[in-house]
Amino acid sequence: MTVRTTRELLLDELRDIYHAEKQLVRALPKLAKAAKADKLRQAFEHHLDETKGQVERLDQVFEQLDARSSGKRCEAMEGLIEEAKEMMEEIKTPEVLDAALIVGAQKVEHYEIASYGSVCALAEALGQNDVKKLLEQTLNEEKAADQKLNKLAISEVNKSALAAAA
Ligand code: FE
Ligand code: ZN
Ligand code: FE
Ligand code: FE
Repeated sequence: MTVRTTRELLLDELRDIYHAEKQLVRALPKLAKAAKADKLRQAFEHHLDETKGQVERLDQVFEQLDARSSGKRCEAMEGLIEEAKEMMEEIKTPEVLDAALIVGAQKVEHYEIASYGSVCALAEALGQNDVKKLLEQTLNEEKAADQKLNKLAISEVNKSALAAAA
């Protein structure tokens, strides 16, 4: 799609994130299934629920902007998910795989934090304050998910990995 204006740039980025979130709705159950630690599995399941809500929130954002909800292939998220799948195949120690799942999931959250931060700024520049507020809600969920994963890694998952196979 041709982009000339700031509004078109915002819509283009929103379509990228929309496709990224839809990919995550499919990928998070696989991460949950691969997790050995209960708390990690629960964290993925909780974020799956949040992610479904984030897709709905993007539908609201498109509506607010009088644009049709649509996705545009996000190759970055495809690549991040592909790398996580490779780890699931290659890592043979379950506790070490848990540590690796957090590595992969935090890369995903950081990509989302960058994306939502940028669309918040574009919405603000365009004076779209309701849109900005919706996007900020998701941005905060992504930041919280990242911090939760970070705490899980430090408090137990990395220690279990080390105990299982240094
Ligand atoms: Fe998300
Ligand atoms: Zn993307
Ligand atoms: Fe992308
Ligand atoms: Fe997320």
